[in-house]
Amino acid sequence: MADSMPVGGTVPAAGPPQHPADLVLRNAKIHTGDRARPEASALAVRDGRVLALGDEHAVAAHIGPDTRVVDALGRRVVPGLNDSHLHVIRGGLNYVLELRWDGVRSLRQGLAMLREQAARTPKGQWIRVVGGWTAEQFAERRLPTPAELNAVAPDTPVFVLHLYQSAVLNRAAVRAAGFTRDTPDPRGGQIVRGRDGEPNGVLLAAPGALVLYSTLAKAPALDEADRKTSTVHFLRELNRFGLTSAVDAAGGFQNFPDNYATVVELAREGRLTLRIAYHLFPQTAGQELDDLRRWVATVRPDEGDEWLRLNGAGENLTWAAADFENFSEPRPELEAGYEGRFEQAVRLLMEHGWGFRLHATYDETIRRDLAVFEKLAADGLFPAGNRWLFDHAETVSPHSLERIAALGGAISVQNRMSFQGSAFVDRYGAETAARTPPVTEMLALGLPVAAGTDATRVSSYNPWVALHWLVTGRTVGGRALYPPQRLLSREGALELYTRGGARITGEEEVKGLLKEGFLADFAVLSHDYFTVPAEDIPHIEAVLTVVGGRLVHAVAEYEGLDEAAAPPISPAWSPVARFGGYQASLPPSASSPPSASGARQADRVAEVAAGSDEQYRWRLACGLEPAGPAGFVDPCYGG
Ligand SMILES: [Zn+2]
Repeated sequence: MADSMPVGGTVPAAGPPQHPADLVLRNAKIHTGDRARPEASALAVRDGRVLALGDEHAVAAHIGPDTRVVDALGRRVVPGLNDSHLHVIRGGLNYVLELRWDGVRSLRQGLAMLREQAARTPKGQWIRVVGGWTAEQFAERRLPTPAELNAVAPDTPVFVLHLYQSAVLNRAAVRAAGFTRDTPDPRGGQIVRGRDGEPNGVLLAAPGALVLYSTLAKAPALDEADRKTSTVHFLRELNRFGLTSAVDAAGGFQNFPDNYATVVELAREGRLTLRIAYHLFPQTAGQELDDLRRWVATVRPDEGDEWLRLNGAGENLTWAAADFENFSEPRPELEAGYEGRFEQAVRLLMEHGWGFRLHATYDETIRRDLAVFEKLAADGLFPAGNRWLFDHAETVSPHSLERIAALGGAISVQNRMSFQGSAFVDRYGAETAARTPPVTEMLALGLPVAAGTDATRVSSYNPWVALHWLVTGRTVGGRALYPPQRLLSREGALELYTRGGARITGEEEVKGLLKEGFLADFAVLSHDYFTVPAEDIPHIEAVLTVVGGRLVHAVAEYEGLDEAAAPPISPAWSPVARFGGYQASLPPSASSPPSASGARQADRVAEVAAGSDEQYRWRLACGLEPAGPAGFVDPCYGG
């Protein structure tokens, strides 16, 4: 027990145990997720799995001379979180190149970060803010303007992606991207021009996001060594929130096998700190079947191990079947006849025993996809016991849900409405938004439902922001979207974030619960998820995250208990090296719930409100004294 910290008070049983535990966690409030035994206060781990679970007495018998005993200090412990739709591989390859506005509370702070970063960024490099935020989270409730980006970064290209709706570029980025008055608008997008006909720095998805991500792709990428370090840091950033697993949704510019090499190598070296189940996504419109034929001939679903495994194809199977989720634009009509190649793709997968995931935002798309599946089912091909699921399904209808259930499908939902809920309400009305997506209806039908974020380019990867949305139905700006009967209990929401993900990868017998024999994946939380005020759920972090019995993240009282430190971030000018990832408003070591520090929050909001130029003009326009004291609630916000 020499290794324990804080030292536990459990007395080992007389005589050494026959099978001593590697790790014992005691004095914990463990939510197991297992209905047969929902609560426990201690657990023992051996060889990466839960050896025993129960009270102190039950685990004491497993403590040997080399067992590390960790005192949870009465904290809440939950099964490790599993984000069922995270672009984790791509996120890792780019993480240290990005300046994250996730969790930033004011545009003023966001711009200050850019100004500081511009001074640190060498010539030839870009500053990129790539998703994870929305104007609603800012005190100013608006996007930056190109002029503001020019002011904070006169010479360094700055690219700010706002969801898959728009991007704001400074003058240097417009130049670096090569946009001139003569550049034609790309398919489905718009390069906005000023009165002089020159690109003014704004790019719009209208509704296709190609214009956004193809511009981002012009920025320099990391070299192989830095991609690896970047991935290591991104996985640790996810561990920081108690994530222990993710299901990768692949994506554009994520080629197989080239762009998977980094995680494959980390897995081979035993350096993954997050379990990843991945998917394969054809890259070239019109040539999707070539990719799929090659893959079914060379790799198999479930290939790999508990750390890294192939789960199937998707989230796109054919490009023409993808509907873009830009709620600030009208719903796109998919091209007539996309079903032809789409049917060939699904048939090929089914014939080879492959499952898949499929991006579909709108019921209009889902109905057309289902017609294809039902046709294949009539041929005896579907379902074939293969795991398959729809991703997103924001506006799926009750009838489509029944058809999905009849075909044995599942659904993976994400909190895109946390970030885009207001745009959705503005276009379709509050009544339609109130069932978008209809999570409670999915559950009532008995459909397997898994939760996640769709990070990193739209939503933030912080799972507690997603859990907050499921529990409160509120956007990151605080707008209520759903009536009480459409909200999930905290336990129900957590189940979608733990067991839900395990079900869609066929791993519900090894993870998602804390139970003897299951993988020892769990998180000790900074605040008790079950009792903290609902508005504080987004501020929860893990103080200790354990994956397969390995301590992969340890802060506060556990500082220094985790595995060897991650290698230093490279390049040294990386925004992450300076700012980290998600910008927490409180350190996780705070012993009281975040809401207890209301005075501190009020100070911050007042400071933000008082300082912005926008606020100055706004207050003038409201007829208020611009230099007057900025209260916690500004009357200008009320209207
Ligand atoms: Zn998608």
